[in-house]
Amino acid sequence: MLTKRVHNYTINATTRQVQLVETKPYIRLSQRDHGSVYLQAGGCFADAGEAIELPEWAAEQMRLLSDAALKEVQWERPAASEWTCDTCGEAVALTVKGVHIASHRREKKGN
Ligand SMILES: [Zn+2]
Repeated sequence: MLTKRVHNYTINATTRQVQLVETKPYIRLSQRDHGSVYLQAGGCFADAGEAIELPEWAAEQMRLLSDAALKEVQWERPAASEWTCDTCGEAVALTVKGVHIASHRREKKGN
């Protein structure tokens, strides 16, 4: 279950000091057509707090997050999905799609 209370405190009965018991950081991802999901403690949660499968659009956004940020919410960067080139039929990682297309343009200019 998602908790939006990132910091949980307790008051020490003896010293009356406030102590931080635990932190539960979360990352909110959102996309206009899909709303928001939250990543926390290795889980993915809908806005209402229930656990859900990581949607593909959220996985795409996670590839832009730093390893440190993902580690805080106990996630790893999802493997990049592949894209198949219409020109040469080669399957390349989605993250280098633009580079690949540009390489074909260069080839054309060279001929
Ligand atoms: Zn190609």
